[in-house]
Amino acid sequence: MHDETRVSGQQDRSAGLTARLANVLAGGMGSGGRYEHRDLVIAKGKGAHVEDANGKRYIDYMLAFGPLILGHAPRVLSEAVAQSLETGIMFGAACESELLLAEEVVSSFPCVDKVRFTNSGTEAVQSALRLARAYTGRDKILKFEGHFHGWADNIFISVKPVAHMGLASHPKAVLMTPGQPKSVIDDIVIATWNDFPGIEQIMSRHGSEIAAIILEPCPTNNGFLEVAPGFLEKLRALASAYGSVLIFDEVVSGFRMALGGGQELYATVPDLCTFGKAFAGGLPIAGFGGRDDIMSLLVDNAVSHLGTYNSGALSCAGALAVLRELKRDDQAVLKHIHRLGKELIGGFNQVFQETGAPLCAAGPGAVVSVYGSPTVPKTYRDVLSHNKELLARIHRALLHRGVWSFARGTFMISAAHDEDDIQETIQMMKRVLTEDIN
Ligand code: PLP
Repeated sequence: MHDETRVSGQQDRSAGLTARLANVLAGGMGSGGRYEHRDLVIAKGKGAHVEDANGKRYIDYMLAFGPLILGHAPRVLSEAVAQSLETGIMFGAACESELLLAEEVVSSFPCVDKVRFTNSGTEAVQSALRLARAYTGRDKILKFEGHFHGWADNIFISVKPVAHMGLASHPKAVLMTPGQPKSVIDDIVIATWNDFPGIEQIMSRHGSEIAAIILEPCPTNNGFLEVAPGFLEKLRALASAYGSVLIFDEVVSGFRMALGGGQELYATVPDLCTFGKAFAGGLPIAGFGGRDDIMSLLVDNAVSHLGTYNSGALSCAGALAVLRELKRDDQAVLKHIHRLGKELIGGFNQVFQETGAPLCAAGPGAVVSVYGSPTVPKTYRDVLSHNKELLARIHRALLHRGVWSFARGTFMISAAHDEDDIQETIQMMKRVLTEDIN
């Protein structure tokens, strides 16, 4: 919406609150990832929309970095949470909602015989990596440049561009933040997405030391990148040949791209997978699961996976309500999301053509990527060569007009978005490109 949608006569409450936040919260924000919209203070959300502290409305395509697959405050989730508030929110012991949720997850992911729940995607990845190391007795992890698997020291590596990242054909493992021990680099080998010959070479050199190959089967963290036909199948065979555990990080793709994530979409079954975000519609619960013989290492704590808040009754009940909603009516929700996403992609591309903007849009629908180039990138290094500055300017201008997306050009769709939201967003993109940017 435009600035005129602000409640008239209202003080700039957002600015006042932002200033107070800066006094007491380090950096003025709760997570470093929120820097791109640091001056936004949200008062409430309902469906596909949020309202800031000034009463200004936004169509929300950020969805709290992806989890809000049903939108804000969906009735099914509110009801499940309300009931749990009455009957107890956590017990530090098994409960029925945990059982029902685990049954839903096992029936959703092809690779999952057994599952465990965590409180975040980062924890889920840590648990999967530990299991892979315990299972193989090896230490090294092969990961792909540009793929994000959470912010823990040992895997927050080669995610964003920095100096000394090496050639595109031979990317180097690089730390992402001061404070990471330099030694973690020693256990990471970096590969290039879709470059199977390169990975074969790496494995021929290091294969006997590689505990796990971890990847986002539908990479979205630097704009959506397609997987080359046959790439995942070949990786599957290579991991098996070298006795390495294949881990699909489905934290974004699971329950969004498809119920069973990339492993369902691409019919390739990993040994382990992680999931989170859309899985619980915004509640802090994620998880990992996979083949029985690997997961059974957790029996009797042979391998440790601990956590006070694991499998909390409230989070389990909420996630269960979300999964049931996603599975209802032959997955009508995901079909709706994909259809709207495709409509947004088509509308954006038409606007880019009409305005001559050097941009393009693509993606699987549930995630829409606008790229800072006229053609869809194939690699992470392609993405890095894009006009990021233009994307950032569009992001700010759209935000000003009441459309909230990721600064990198990503738009996440929820069950609560409708045709009007999509058409309004396409119109706003046109106005941004014709009135604000030029
Ligand atoms: N894995 C992927 C693919 C992600 O995109 C993210 C977060 O964006 C994570 C793991 C970490 O999840 P969380 O933020 O819940 O710790």
